[in-house]
Amino acid sequence: MQDADSPKPMLALVAHDARKDAMVDFARRNATKLADYRLVATGTTGGRIKEACPQLDVTPLKSGPLGGDQQIGALIAEGALNGLFFFVDPLTPMPHDVDVKALMRLALVYDIPMALNQATAEILLRSARLSGLATSSQTPEISKLRQ
Ligand code: PGA
Repeated sequence: MQDADSPKPMLALVAHDARKDAMVDFARRNATKLADYRLVATGTTGGRIKEACPQLDVTPLKSGPLGGDQQIGALIAEGALNGLFFFVDPLTPMPHDVDVKALMRLALVYDIPMALNQATAEILLRSARLSGLATSSQTPEISKLRQ
């Protein structure tokens, strides 16, 4: 349960192209729970989620291949992010693979709860750990990161 005075915890959502439908489906089915978070997402993923769930507070960043993954990495380094749901396509080579690896590496360095597939995301979203890790005092002005 969120304290009325503290900002909501922040969750980042990213999906590779082949996993975007799964992410949209996940967001639709879990919209009530996701409404407890401020959501940031890479550009295309964020646009798809906003279209499907206009009631959610989603800040779209740059598209992943254009730096969106790195923007999310910066949020991790600044201590602003409480969780990362990154639906990875394991079958397609990505031109921005180094950014993807860098993002996962930062999530590991800072011990951020991270789901790389839908099954884990479902479990994490039900975990008290995810919502209980708000780092509001370190939250930067995310509007500055908008596209
Ligand atoms: P996108 O980026 O949401 O802008 O497609 C995701 C990614 O491939 O990192």
